Amino acid sequence: MLDLTGKKALVTGVANKRSIAWAIAQALHSAGCEMAFTYQTERLEGGVRKLGESLGVSHYYELDVTNEAHFDALAAGLASDFGGLDYALHSIAFANKEAFDSPFHEITETDFLQAHQISAYSLIPLCRSLRPLLAAGDGGSVLAMTYFGAEKVVPMYSLMGVAKASLEITARYLANDLGPENIRVNCLSAGPVRTLAAAGIPGFRELMRKSEHVMPLRRHITTEEVAQAAAFLLANTGITGEVTHVDAGFNILAAEGQASPA
Ligand code: NAD
Repeated sequence: MLDLTGKKALVTGVANKRSIAWAIAQALHSAGCEMAFTYQTERLEGGVRKLGESLGVSHYYELDVTNEAHFDALAAGLASDFGGLDYALHSIAFANKEAFDSPFHEITETDFLQAHQISAYSLIPLCRSLRPLLAAGDGGSVLAMTYFGAEKVVPMYSLMGVAKASLEITARYLANDLGPENIRVNCLSAGPVRTLAAAGIPGFRELMRKSEHVMPLRRHITTEEVAQAAAFLLANTGITGEVTHVDAGFNILAAEGQASPA
C-alpha cells in the first residue's frame, strides 16, 4: 500500500464525481496525501468544494488555463497557504464539440488552437508556475492525462487526438528540461471512462461497447485502476517522460484490418 503521508498534491480537473481527477484525489487521500484543488469556473466551485471537503481539502484556487494570471495567483496562493508542493495532476482537456462533428480536414484554426491551448499548452504554464515549489522539496512530480488517440487514428477522437499528441511530446520535453531540478513529468494514457468530457465526443458510447469484446482483458478499466496507477506514477522517483497505458491492454492490438496477413 502506497504511503504518501507528509506529501502535498495539487489536483486540477475535478468537475464532478465522475471526473478521473476525483478518483485520483480519492486514491491520493487514501495514501495519506494532503491536497489542494483547482476549479475551472465559479459555476463549478461549489460542487468541487463539496467533493473536496469530504476528503478534508481546505485550499481551493480558480484555474481557467486560458487565463495566465490564474497560474500566478495559484502559485502564490500555494506558496503562502499550502507551504509546499510535491505533486501536480493535470487532468484538463477541451475541444469545441462542433470540431468532432466535422470531417478532419474541415477543422478550423480557432478550434485547433483552442484545443491545443487548453489541452496541451496548459501543461507548460502549470509546470512553469509550480516549478519553484516542486523543486524545493525532495523530488517534484507532474502527471498529465492522455488517451491512445494521440498515437493512432481513432476517428471519433479527431482534433483531441492531435492535442493529446502535442501534450505527450510536451511532457517529454518538460521532463528533460526539469529533470535536473528533480522534477518528473509523465503521462497516463487511460482507456475510455464515462465522464463529462467523454460525453462531448460523439460515438464514445459505441466505441466502448464495441471495444469491450476485443480488449485483452475483455473489459474496460475502472477509474479506481487509473487512480491507483496515477498515485504510483506521481510517487515513483525513477520514472520520467513516460506514457503509461492503463487501458486493459487496448494499445497493444493491431487494427482489425491489419490483424490478418491473408
Ligand atoms: P471531466 O470533464 O470530468 O474533466 C475535464 C476537466 O477539464 C474538467 O474539470 C474541466 O473543468 C477541465 N477544463 C476544461 N477546460 C478548462 C479550462 N479552460 N481551464 C481549466 N480547466 C478546464 O472529464 P475526464 O474524462 O475526467 O477528463 C480528465 C482528463 O482525462 C482529460 O485530460 C481527458 O482528456 C483525459 N482522459 C479522459 C478519458 C475518458 O475516457 N474520460 C480517457 C483518457 C484520458
